[in-house]
Amino acid sequence: MSRQRIVVLGSTGSIGQNTLEVLAGLDRRYEVVGLAAGSQWKPLAQQARDWRPKAIAITDVANADALRSAVDRSVRVYSGPQAMVELIEAEACEVVVSAVVGAAGLPATLRAVELGRRIALANKETLVVAGALIAPLARQTGAALIPVDSEHSAIFQSLQAGRHSEVRRIILTASGGPFRTWDAERMARATLEDALNHPTWAMGPKITIDSATMMNKALEIIEARWLFDMPADRISVLVHPESVVHSLVEFCDGSLIAQLGSPDMRLPIQYALTWPDRLPCPSQSLDLLAHRRLHFDPPDEDRFPALRLGHETAQRGGTAGAVLNAANEAAVELFRAGEIRFTEIASLTEHAVSRHEYKENPTLDDLLAADRWARNEVTECSTC
Ligand code: NDP
Ligand code: MG
Repeated sequence: MSRQRIVVLGSTGSIGQNTLEVLAGLDRRYEVVGLAAGSQWKPLAQQARDWRPKAIAITDVANADALRSAVDRSVRVYSGPQAMVELIEAEACEVVVSAVVGAAGLPATLRAVELGRRIALANKETLVVAGALIAPLARQTGAALIPVDSEHSAIFQSLQAGRHSEVRRIILTASGGPFRTWDAERMARATLEDALNHPTWAMGPKITIDSATMMNKALEIIEARWLFDMPADRISVLVHPESVVHSLVEFCDGSLIAQLGSPDMRLPIQYALTWPDRLPCPSQSLDLLAHRRLHFDPPDEDRFPALRLGHETAQRGGTAGAVLNAANEAAVELFRAGEIRFTEIASLTEHAVSRHEYKENPTLDDLLAADRWARNEVTECSTC
């Protein structure tokens, strides 16, 4: 079997590094031909020395010269805001791992979809912003969008037990994050350190804060809507603090099919790469006897208003997802900078969603304009 060529976008991040760990065990199947990061040139240069890709990309142009001088001359280096798109266009590959954080991952993921690549998709924000354009485009070009997100990987696996027309609903599980048992007053005083203290998963800072507000689950409802072509009213959320049942599908006969495993992203990453094959994985097997009890609770939309917002946004479609996502990204940045309180992340996002000029059938330009408007709106409102 000839090796498939793979590009990892966001290779210096949490998912990116886990992907490279998985790929280290799959070297007979894959050849890493491209790696890309935002600004961290030193770890990217180290990865280039370790993996010897044909090309690398860095979007922060200020670090491009330092990166160039730190890698072998034979490695092509793309730099600047379009660097990842240029790498995807110029370097032949079969598979792209989309693991940049935020809407910044959209342009290169979209290009990979246009080129009909197989995409292991971690960057959920791409579908939240532009699912209405990406999902039909993928069908047209033959691009396979395989989920990396653990819940969506679980659903993808569970769906194999029946036909799409036989699915009654999708149930996304949520750990509930670090504030699952906190009351609203205490949450309003939560610090950045509190929000970054996730009980079950080790992830990058943005998604960790999204888990604390449960905006992550809101984004995942929208992600599921597009990945599985499922209306929002057939996607529900169940709080499951142990993060062992990664999600479930209920079929029309009442059967619930779930995927269980240790909370370790290497498993869903590997499955996205090897599907339809299964291979031994470095993640530890799940010991159910070590857990004994698994818990399920209804989500609390009063303490976590992001959840309601996620459902409404998935239902509305149009420009709503782009606004929700951009407003949340801007609010998370403000919270990380110490400029707003934790609970203001959801309230500022809700404010932007309620005020924006909604378009039902937006073009890509409309979505990008809605994204810019929402970031601006949140920044302005945070000081009023
Ligand atoms: P990290 O913050 O750990 O890594 C983000 C990656 O994106 C880094 O390589 C970073 O480069 C790059 N990046 C950041 N900003 C930009 C930018 N403006 N332009 C180009 N590249 C940029 O994030 P995670 O790995 O945690 O998350 C990545 C994606 O995967 C997110 O969409 C997240 O929701 C999703 N996901 C993550 C999970 C996890 O376990 N971490 C689980 C499920 C989904 P640099 O290092 O140079 O800054
Ligand atoms: Mg998830």
